[in-house]
Amino acid sequence: MEGLLELVYPPACVACDEVLPGPGFFCDECAPLVLETPAPHCRRCAEPGAFPRATCPRCESRPPPFTRAFAPFEHDGAVAKAIHRFKYEQRPDLARPLGSLLGKSAAAFLKDAAGPLVPLPLHTGRFRERGYDQATLLTVELGQVLKRPVHDEWLERTRATERQVGLHEDARDANVRGAFTASPAVRGHEVVLVDDVYTTGSTASEASRTLLAAGATRIFILTLARARRELM
Ligand SMILES: [Zn+2]
Ligand SMILES: [Zn+2]
Repeated sequence: MEGLLELVYPPACVACDEVLPGPGFFCDECAPLVLETPAPHCRRCAEPGAFPRATCPRCESRPPPFTRAFAPFEHDGAVAKAIHRFKYEQRPDLARPLGSLLGKSAAAFLKDAAGPLVPLPLHTGRFRERGYDQATLLTVELGQVLKRPVHDEWLERTRATERQVGLHEDARDANVRGAFTASPAVRGHEVVLVDDVYTTGSTASEASRTLLAAGATRIFILTLARARRELM
C-alpha cells in the first residue's frame, strides 16, 4: 500500500514541490535553507542563546505557565516557506509530510513530553475562511506517526481574537486572555500542545493556563518552527 501511494504521490519537497528521488522532506536546493533551532537555547522556551542557569531573561522574570516549549526549526528559509504554503495557500495535504517531519525532528523532546497531543485551536471564524485548521491537521498526523492519542476536544477557542501579528507583548497577552475553554477531561493528564509556529508564546501561555486551571498536570508546547524574537 505504501509503495502504491508513493507511485501515485511521489515524495515532493514541502517548500517547493520538487519531486524527490526517494523519501525525504526537502529538495537539494531547499535543504541548505532549513535552519535548525541552534543549541544552546533556553530550557523553558527554546530562545536561542547561552543563558546563566539555561533560562532566558524573559522566562527568568516571567516564568511561563508551561513546563517547556520546543521547536526543531527557526521560522525562516525553507521551513517558513513550507508553513506559509500549508497555512495560507490551501495546501492541507502538507500536513502529512510536515507531521512526520515534526515527529522525526522533535523525537528527543517527545520522549520527555509523553502525554496526549492537543492542537492549539483556531477560532471557528478563521476556520471558515481557510476551510481547515492547520494545527489540528498537523496534530492528527503527528499522532499517527507517534501512535499517540489526539484530543482536540480538550481545548476550544471560545472567543475570537485579533491577529497577533503587529501587536506588542502586553497587547498580545490581553488579546488572548480568556480566549480558550478546557474540558474537565484534562484533569490529571499531561498535555502536549501542538501548533505550527511559536512567536511570543502569549497564545501558548494562555492555552496552558486554561488547561492547568482545568486540572492538567503539566503542559509541553511543540511547534514546527519558532520565530526569532528580534524579528518580531
Ligand atoms: Zn525545494
Ligand atoms: Zn525562555
